[in-house]
Amino acid sequence: MENVFNIPQLSGNLRKELLQSAAEQFGTPLYVYDLERIEARFNALKQAFAGRKALVCYALKANSNLSVIKKLASLESGADCVSLGEIKRAVMAGIPKYKIIYSGVGKQDFEIKEAISLGILFINVESKEEMLRVEACARELGISARISIRVNPDIDPQTHPYISTGLKENKFGVSIEEAKGMYLHAHNAEFLEPIGIHFHIGSQLTKLKPIAESAQKIAQLTQSLLALKIDIKFFDIGGGIGITYSDESTISPYDYAQAILAELRGLDVTIVCEPGRFIVGNSGVFLTKVLYQKENQGKRFVIVDGAMNDLIRPSLYAAYHQILALKNMESKGEAEVAGPICESGDYLGKNIVLPHCERGDILAVLSAGAYGFSMASNYNTRPRCAEVVVENGKIRLVRKRESFEDLIALEKEYL
Ligand SMILES: *Cc1c(COP(=O)(O)O)cnc(C)c1O
Repeated sequence: MENVFNIPQLSGNLRKELLQSAAEQFGTPLYVYDLERIEARFNALKQAFAGRKALVCYALKANSNLSVIKKLASLESGADCVSLGEIKRAVMAGIPKYKIIYSGVGKQDFEIKEAISLGILFINVESKEEMLRVEACARELGISARISIRVNPDIDPQTHPYISTGLKENKFGVSIEEAKGMYLHAHNAEFLEPIGIHFHIGSQLTKLKPIAESAQKIAQLTQSLLALKIDIKFFDIGGGIGITYSDESTISPYDYAQAILAELRGLDVTIVCEPGRFIVGNSGVFLTKVLYQKENQGKRFVIVDGAMNDLIRPSLYAAYHQILALKNMESKGEAEVAGPICESGDYLGKNIVLPHCERGDILAVLSAGAYGFSMASNYNTRPRCAEVVVENGKIRLVRKRESFEDLIALEKEYL
């Protein structure tokens, strides 16, 4: 069996011949997801918590393609959603409503009301102000709202500052002190039912210690809430487990689960976790075609048909993705792989070792299954690309390439 934790290399369903034929059949740029690897990674995490009351709620924002969510629904995943749109995707793909949680710092009334009416598991509230909105919406509907409070443990997750969320200077959650007051309010409120406690300290976490320290702080808070007869049933540890993009060593699901369980000793709660990247990141590849190779004053550029509108992580976070040419050639040198967009920040990789490239060569950008297509845009009036999945050795289209007509559909009647 392949090691499901550290496989940024092309292997299994994502081997070169298959990717080459996917590019020929469906065109480029193109996202390719391996549903079997998604399954293996989901199961690895689920099994790490086996024997405990636990619910894995896949974080849709990492990759919200309906076919990906449907696959996870078939594995009994729940869903962590951050908008009403994501809740609707989860429901449409077959995730039961009682396994859906709703997070995010800025929920609107119509989203809150719909979430309450649907009867999702709970809403993660991120401020006192938001809790009061949820209460008002619940009263209006005459339905009690199940909530969890996102507590900011003020722990440095040691990840990129843009994807760090658990420090006191971040906008997310409330302090432990404030949380206590909020729980007391909710406990006494007619239309609020505080059943959960939540933290999420950041993304692409490669160290266990900050997670364990956060779990410890939040477990202590949970104990003190239970002493006040506030019945916390769900202990939501957020997402954030990192993956290997280059040579990072990451957290194994087993160690992760053991570290959490060690901090929870004696607490009778259901553990909820919200992995996104861990499930889909290494399970996807972005394929792009070489348009030109050019040299500018000694520096080699490989200009490709994929761009920052398709995969923004390099531009946005200076994130690194391994890039491989599907053709094999001995001689290699460094190049910047850049897209056609009119921004210097439009690149997929810098100092990438590649063979001499020719027009039509296919490059595979690895570990692109998370925060790839889900962050895509139409900048430069570029249609968003197609998405395919591989399962049982077969390639299947799961999202059509957008057309120019799709792009102007909402404008042309005003012309
Ligand atoms: C983004 C996010 C996740 C998923 O993060 P990953 O790093 O992809 O695992 C989980 N929970 C919340 C609240 C989030 O904002």
